[in-house]
Amino acid sequence: PFTPDELLIVVRRGLEKRRLDLESRALREEKAAIERNFVTMVTHQLRSPLSAILQYFDVLLEGIGGELTEVQREMLERARERLQGLLELINDWLDMSRIQEGDIVRRLRPVDLAACVDEALKGLEWAAREKDVAIQVQLPEDLPKILADPGSFREVLSNLISNAVKYNREKGVVVVRAEACPGGVSIQVTDTGFGIAETELPFIFDQFYRGKDSRVRSLEGTGLGLAIAQKIVRAHGGCLRVRSELGRGSTFEVIVSAAGGDNVTNGTR
Ligand code: ADP
Repeated sequence: PFTPDELLIVVRRGLEKRRLDLESRALREEKAAIERNFVTMVTHQLRSPLSAILQYFDVLLEGIGGELTEVQREMLERARERLQGLLELINDWLDMSRIQEGDIVRRLRPVDLAACVDEALKGLEWAAREKDVAIQVQLPEDLPKILADPGSFREVLSNLISNAVKYNREKGVVVVRAEACPGGVSIQVTDTGFGIAETELPFIFDQFYRGKDSRVRSLEGTGLGLAIAQKIVRAHGGCLRVRSELGRGSTFEVIVSAAGGDNVTNGTR
């Protein structure tokens, strides 16, 4: 048993330890915020000059300064391609550091999925046409609205659909389906592409992870698309999962809450 004085010392020590813990946690959080800001600032500063350089390349490739020799054209095209890759990386990076759960939660509202899918498809038509991949959208008329932040949810769909096109075979098919489910609304993006090896499935949502398959490696990518999608879906309180069969294709499924309906966390999650 402690004397009152000893007890006081023990309590004081406990309080002091707690104060130090809190202080170091606050410091850690501050450090993380500074790092995030730094990444955002640097990438932001890089983006404008790189975009300008890209435009100069485009103008040169259009032949504005006179006809290019074949070698010059090839070199410019290669430089342009590398620059484009770098810009994609920077944009993904910025996305990754900008996604804040609080912002998404604040912007949640009833969203018409059909309109959101249409928006997402806008940037992907060219890639689909180039590979002769057909994109079919099958949404039931009476689908409830989803509870989402429209801008970031469109990005989830666009990342999933663009992967489904990119990692598909020539003349393949992508189907975007949705249905009401106990947890809210389930949205599935199915492709007839390469599929993903079971050993790789645990890693594909990690930042910067790219598939080992040589066909995947031969295509441009940053390894951030699924990490971004996962982060956004989680901020919605939803879940994102995948089923895949090597050589046959993959299905990525997103489950989010319906507006005014069940909450995903009470349902299939
Ligand atoms: P990136 O597409 O830039 O490589 P992602 O984060 O979008 O980055 O995807 C990570 C990896 O997951 C890809 O490199 C690929 O191996 C695999 N992957 C994603 N979507 C598909 C898909 N629909 N079919 C096959 N593999 C896929």
